[in-house]
Amino acid sequence: ATPTALLVGTGRGAQLGILIKGPEVLESTRRVDTVVLDKTGTVTTGVMTVHDVTSAAGVDAEQLLRVAGAAESGSEHPIGRAIAAAAGDRAGLLPSVRDFANVEGRGVTATVADAGHDLEVLVGRPSLMADRGLEVDADLEVARVAGEQAGRTVVLVAWDGIVRGLVTVGDAVKDTSAEAVAQLKRLGLTPVLLTGDNATVAHQVAAEVGIERVIAEVLPQDKVAVIAGLQRDGKVVAMVGDGVNDAAALAQADLGLAMGTGADVAIEAADLTLVRGDLRAAVDAIRLARRTLTTIK
Ligand code: ADP
Ligand code: MG
Repeated sequence: ATPTALLVGTGRGAQLGILIKGPEVLESTRRVDTVVLDKTGTVTTGVMTVHDVTSAAGVDAEQLLRVAGAAESGSEHPIGRAIAAAAGDRAGLLPSVRDFANVEGRGVTATVADAGHDLEVLVGRPSLMADRGLEVDADLEVARVAGEQAGRTVVLVAWDGIVRGLVTVGDAVKDTSAEAVAQLKRLGLTPVLLTGDNATVAHQVAAEVGIERVIAEVLPQDKVAVIAGLQRDGKVVAMVGDGVNDAAALAQADLGLAMGTGADVAIEAADLTLVRGDLRAAVDAIRLARRTLTTIK
């Protein structure tokens, strides 16, 4: 095939807000049958806000948010940023922090000097607490389940070996996502939602945009294995993602699409970049590839 039609395709791509690494990219685009969508920042806005703060009996809710916010102040994760921002708004100056560590796909740990005491703080998903042998008391467990059922991501806060409370955070589905999913289906493609978030939240978001297949609670390093698994099942997989922890999966996919609003490493790993972060551009890219290759024949 002469590459002329492909180059025309890439020029048209730029007009549609799609940056294409090379003309050969469109060839794999044409064969795609499965489109894996990262949840946070891809289907949803990725801009998290804190909704509720619940403390265990005998724990001051102000202190809970202040300590959690301090522990998260070094975090680059949207959840960590939301908690640190909410705590800063409420408390003003946050307590000082030492020994901050990020636990990939789970949360953070830090030493926080609050009210004259050094607290060994953990902030993160339930599995982070379980891994360290910490239990959640019955009242907090009720609040945790309620938060998840409300479609929030629940983040537990512990210090000195006791779970002291929880913070619920959430973001909203982008208003273009449902339309993009409907268009993908009309092209005969199967959308799959992939996320590290909990299954309840994942299914809520999926239902909101019309996705039936959900793969939730996937650790960052396991996203690439999910893509490889689909490929082993004979699928030709496009992956759309935005995060640092999507980069390996984007590279593994037959076609990697990065949100232009996302992390640089994701954009570098991808074959295509959706400049405006609008999922409908992914559909445009697939249509463009099909049309371009029809022109060649
Ligand atoms: P996604 O795949 O949806 O982008 P991640 O893999 O980044 O999600 O995170 C998975 C889960 O790990 C989050 O839903 C959250 O429960 C927890 N988590 C990750 N980072 C943090 C953090 N800094 N603070 C609290 N919880 C976190
Ligand atoms: Mg993401």
